[in-house]
Amino acid sequence: MGKVLIIGCGGVAGVAIHKCCQNSGVFTEICIASRTVSKCEAMKKKLEGMTKAKISTAQVDADNTRELIALIEKEKPDVVLNLALPYQDLTIMDACLATKTNYVDTANYEPEDTAKFEYKWQWAYRERFEKAGITALLGSGFDPGVTGVFSAYALKHYFDEINYIDILDCNGGDHGYPFATNFNPEINIREVSAKGSYWEDGKWVETEPMEIKRVYNFPEVGEKDMYLLHHEELESLALNMPGIKRIRFFMTFGQSYLTHLKCLENVGMTSIEPIIYEGKEIVPLQFLKAVLPDPASLGPRTKGKTNIGCIFTGKKDGKEKTIYIYNVCDHEECYKEVGSQAVAYTTGVPAMIGAAMLMTKTWDKAGVYNIEEFDPDPFMEALNEFGLPWQVSENPVMVE
Ligand code: NDP
Repeated sequence: MGKVLIIGCGGVAGVAIHKCCQNSGVFTEICIASRTVSKCEAMKKKLEGMTKAKISTAQVDADNTRELIALIEKEKPDVVLNLALPYQDLTIMDACLATKTNYVDTANYEPEDTAKFEYKWQWAYRERFEKAGITALLGSGFDPGVTGVFSAYALKHYFDEINYIDILDCNGGDHGYPFATNFNPEINIREVSAKGSYWEDGKWVETEPMEIKRVYNFPEVGEKDMYLLHHEELESLALNMPGIKRIRFFMTFGQSYLTHLKCLENVGMTSIEPIIYEGKEIVPLQFLKAVLPDPASLGPRTKGKTNIGCIFTGKKDGKEKTIYIYNVCDHEECYKEVGSQAVAYTTGVPAMIGAAMLMTKTWDKAGVYNIEEFDPDPFMEALNEFGLPWQVSENPVMVE
């Protein structure tokens, strides 16, 4: 069918590339381009021969729009799948605009020097993408991503209006390290050390980091402590779900993770303010990333399951009802299949599906859209087909 250009070759990209190779009827050509081209070449070597897709590689600095434009003009992809870091979203969107190429990502833009992510920068491209006749699909990972698809699916099939959404992200996996992060440590620590917030009655309610704790008994995982965080899909769902009154996001953390995080924060290691060390400017959080285990190395050591999903409460035919849609994913099974743990897997699979939705024109409207603005049904089918089967539980236990 067509060609995808994947930018970035880290944990999430590794899974998405495997999945594009499995879906070679849609992705007949895959170009993997990243800062460190040797990683792209290693990935190509690993997958060639196992897929009908033709794989090529390239070196690119995704902070440089001119380099990106030259690469897109040379490769002529139908879709660019951005799996680098949130800092590169705008340069890649600019290059897609200049070359009239469709764009997909999994995380919203965040300036490198301000730990605050919001959609305003990317939503500002709406009119330009529309005029250029191309699509930008924002947030096609799991959360954001599948959580938005679950929301659109619940609204389409189960409710007349949804009033409350609780998004629950549980990682019941154990990698055996006292402290490590499951995806890019810098992005992960920026997210969890920020203030929490939730959306209620038309406005944001801010909390201290980890201030709100709940305990939930997750299907197939068991009882876990979870904490309220700010998360990017809250912002788009608050706009796109008619009748919504409250949306919260909770993520599970073990005591060892929290104790280490507190200690690292207390000594200044999670700061993004540059400091001078031996005459050289360094950012403490970036230095910390360099000494922590690479998330890609957790695959062979991680056991247990993730359970990510949404509890929806709303009305159908005038009656109140609640459903829970979730996916359970096993770290060891993921590793067996694609050589990665479940956190990368649950992000990489929907990234591939989002790119496939645009490639096949199953989703075809010009402009900048969040994932819940499209028909959820073909995406939900593809989740079952490509390794993230979901379940619907009626009358689940609610979060207080
Ligand atoms: P990694 O750090 O493992 O990989 C990032 C990749 O991007 C690396 O290959 C890196 O290159 C490359 N890269 C970074 N900067 C540049 C640049 N300037 N030019 C070219 N390439 C660059 O991150 P993850 O795979 O863990 O995460 C990828 C994305 O997925 C992130 O945006 C993250 O926020 C998002 N994510 C989304 C989730 C969701 O559910 N929606 C969940 C988890 C992650 P190099 O190898 O040289 O470092």
